Amino acid sequence: MGKAFDIGLERLTASDGLPEWKLESAVKSDCANSPVDFLQGGAGTFYLETFGCQMNDHDSEKVAGVLLARGYSQVETPDAAKVILYNTCSIREKAAQKVFSRLGEYRTTRKEGQVIGVLGCVAQQEGEDIFERAPWVSLVCGSASYRKLPEMIAQLEAGNRRITGLDNDTDETFETEITRRDNPFRAYLTIIEGCDKACSYCVVPFTRGPERSRASASILEEVRKLADSGYSEIQLLGQTVNSYADPGARKMRFADLLVAVAEVGGIRRVRFTTSHPRDFGKDIVDAIESYPVLCDHVHLPVQSGSSAILRAMQRTYTRDEYLEKISLMRAAKRPISITTDIIVGFPGETEKDFAETLSLLDEVGYDGAYSFKYSPRPNTPSLKMEDAVPEEEKSRRLAILMEKQKAIQTARNEALIGQVFEVLVDGKSKKENQWYGHTSRNQVMNFSSQRQEILGHYVQARVTSAVPNTLFGKEDEVMRQ
Ligand code: SAM
Ligand code: SF4
Repeated sequence: MGKAFDIGLERLTASDGLPEWKLESAVKSDCANSPVDFLQGGAGTFYLETFGCQMNDHDSEKVAGVLLARGYSQVETPDAAKVILYNTCSIREKAAQKVFSRLGEYRTTRKEGQVIGVLGCVAQQEGEDIFERAPWVSLVCGSASYRKLPEMIAQLEAGNRRITGLDNDTDETFETEITRRDNPFRAYLTIIEGCDKACSYCVVPFTRGPERSRASASILEEVRKLADSGYSEIQLLGQTVNSYADPGARKMRFADLLVAVAEVGGIRRVRFTTSHPRDFGKDIVDAIESYPVLCDHVHLPVQSGSSAILRAMQRTYTRDEYLEKISLMRAAKRPISITTDIIVGFPGETEKDFAETLSLLDEVGYDGAYSFKYSPRPNTPSLKMEDAVPEEEKSRRLAILMEKQKAIQTARNEALIGQVFEVLVDGKSKKENQWYGHTSRNQVMNFSSQRQEILGHYVQARVTSAVPNTLFGKEDEVMRQ
């Protein structure tokens, strides 16, 4: 094996005599330049489909960046691709099932020489079992191993039948050389990987491994580069983004990092998601107050309004403690939009517990809520809990909750009528003179403007009407002066 493949490959037992390989963590730092014949000359094509959250979307940007840098080109359909990759989500059972049904399509349709790969959380969770369930899959790779993808694919091209990359406790995933960014206006940046929180229903600690923060110097360098290349909006990502702990010499806490990012020249908006209530303190609200560049929006998942259920979920806060965090934000000089995540039908959730979640919606007045039926997941402590809520009852509770939240959002959005918001223009609608974009509160706003060429510009628009998920308005000529 030549130097190019001196990347810590370990042979696995292969049931059919063909070699299978597993990538170990010790990839040499110069592997990005290794002469992998198959990739030279841009011979390869890849198709990449992403399921799940923003972190997965951003991971896919990194995967695409890594492959493009190695001579691959991205194609729009699986049919046209040499390598078909699915970046998967396993947070709820349905999401994981969707991946396997997509993979099932290739049982008979896979073309000779096509590589089918499973990336992300399902890969990490199911590991080599995927080869049993879908023997036509030849590559299984978790999020911490994406830099090694070109080498892994080259191994398959060289005749190896199956390969896995399943380490999940390295911080290599942060440092991909090139990220191909899908959104021309908002750049995503992972600052913390994994999760140490151990909520009793959640697979993330198993699929994404322990918490690892990226050094602030490296984050700030990337932000400066993004600003130089024309991005003015940055979104910092992490499963618990505010648990950030700088491993570098500056030892920044999350609020310090927010300020440092906000101070980078050319950056006009900074967002962050997702915050965990336990680590959400006044220092973050103070930073938002002092730096208008930090957006007027916090996503603070509560999961349940009942302290008993929160305890069973191992969320590490009570309803009252959560409400104290909300009070910190409500006391800020600048109004902050607050959104959340809620799970209904957790084992043991009584009518009374559910009523407490409904009353919490009223008490907080959320501007948005993602709500889910509890889904039992492998390896999680809640799997063994008694008093499961029947599926039908979960659906009933979810419908009630969504209806209530819709009414709250309608009222809150209607209260914004007459106000002017700055909109970063993301797109043009089919209707003449109609544009859309996001406000600092992260609300979608559709507005009319007589101007042309305002894509990517910041525009002042006055709200004239509203529905639960969208504001409507028109560009404000006075504010433009
Ligand atoms: N780290 C974030 C936090 O602590 O809130 C959220 C991560 S998770 C990708 C996004 C949301 O999925 C969670 O906030 C939770 O509401 C939901 N979720 C996670 N596990 C779930 C499960 N087993 N069943 C239903 N919803 C779940
Ligand atoms: Fe999952 Fe809880 Fe970690 Fe969020 S904080 S990723 S819900 S374990």
